[in-house]
Amino acid sequence: MTNRNLRRQRILVTGGAGFVGSHLIDRLLERGDEVLCVDNLFTGDKSNLDHLADQPRFEFVRHDVCFPLYVEVDQIFNLACPASPIHYQFDPVQTTKTSVSGAINMLGLAKRVKARIFQASTSEIYGDPSVHPQPESYWGNVNTIGPRACYDEGKRCAETLFFDYHRQHNLEIKVARIFNTYGPRMHPGDGRVVSNFIIQALQGEPITIYGDGQQSRSFCYVDDLVEGFLRFMDAGPDFPGPLNLGNPNEFTMLELSELVLEITGSKSKLVKMPLPQDDPRQRQPDISLARAKLDWEPKMQLREGLTKTIEYFDELLKRNAGPVEGLSRPTR
Ligand code: NAD
Ligand code: UDP
Ligand code: UDP
Repeated sequence: MTNRNLRRQRILVTGGAGFVGSHLIDRLLERGDEVLCVDNLFTGDKSNLDHLADQPRFEFVRHDVCFPLYVEVDQIFNLACPASPIHYQFDPVQTTKTSVSGAINMLGLAKRVKARIFQASTSEIYGDPSVHPQPESYWGNVNTIGPRACYDEGKRCAETLFFDYHRQHNLEIKVARIFNTYGPRMHPGDGRVVSNFIIQALQGEPITIYGDGQQSRSFCYVDDLVEGFLRFMDAGPDFPGPLNLGNPNEFTMLELSELVLEITGSKSKLVKMPLPQDDPRQRQPDISLARAKLDWEPKMQLREGLTKTIEYFDELLKRNAGPVEGLSRPTR
């Protein structure tokens, strides 16, 4: 590892034009690192990086991680992968390729340049969990052939690859299992519950509750998540994870809709829609390990985080004036 005091770290962020990646890049640049962002702009957007146009320590390369990449870096954050169900189900074969071939290429790169490498894994590897809340020791309950499998199984295989490179090649790895995260720069057409409810409320459209709305999720604000990434990455090499990162405060989708309606002051009505196949009933991270090892826990309460996210979408909708349906189709 390069000594931070001797020279700047050069850090590769794959998927850096996306929601989480763009916030991570902001933090890395703020602390003085050089950042190379690699993204194929499948679900990400360069507008998330527009504010960095004059930043000399930032570089963008349009590239698909399914293909080999030869660059010289000190650390790698591997975030490249569509994250929302409608995006990862749009081209499921490509989703698995991104997770698996992308992981192999980034691990091969890390091995060659002796870089520490972080993997953005997911709570989805727990599937529809039969243990609640989910500790890292839980092995999960995933349907291998369902519509979510391209993402869940791709991410599970990536975890396997990370740990095999760690054991076989002594690679320094950091595997984080991220739970539902929200905040500014979420893709307005990604169909995720937080962006859907906010946009529907702001536009006075019906709020779409899938199923009975009693299913639960635990929502983490993006700044809290990124803080967890950095603490984990900078912790010693003897702590590869896997590590849950998320907010343990759990809400039903009905509770979330009520909060969004209250903050926006919207008069939107609720409308019930069918529950998507294999939709997990509940999800809540057990973050005891992150608390103990990193002294990390989320600080942002849902009400405050939603208020910031609503401000972002309000501004975005005013700029783009009109309904957002046209934004929901990913491009490659
Ligand atoms: P996002 O879709 O906004 O960002 C993903 C980025 O990866 C996009 O910029 C996209 O263009 C890029 N990408 C996709 N395929 C690629 C490829 N083959 N080559 C290069 N770039 C590619 O999603 P996000 O919410 O920012 O998620 C970032 C990471 O965190 C993903 O790996 C995701 O699986 C993981 N994660 C996110 C959440 C969440 O709630 N946001 C939860 C669990 C895990
Ligand atoms: N790889 C890459 N960049 C590098 C080194 C490797 O993209 O700087 C890719 C390479 O295409 C290879 C993969 O990473 O297929 C795995 O590399 P590794 O050295 O582990 O395996 P091998 O090259 O022996 O198949
Ligand atoms: N959901 C909903 N209405 C929407 C979008 C999603 O009720 O307009 C539900 C969805 O069925 C799921 C939860 O909200 O139970 C979270 O969905 P999301 O796609 O945000 O994330 P994930 O299912 O991957 O956790």
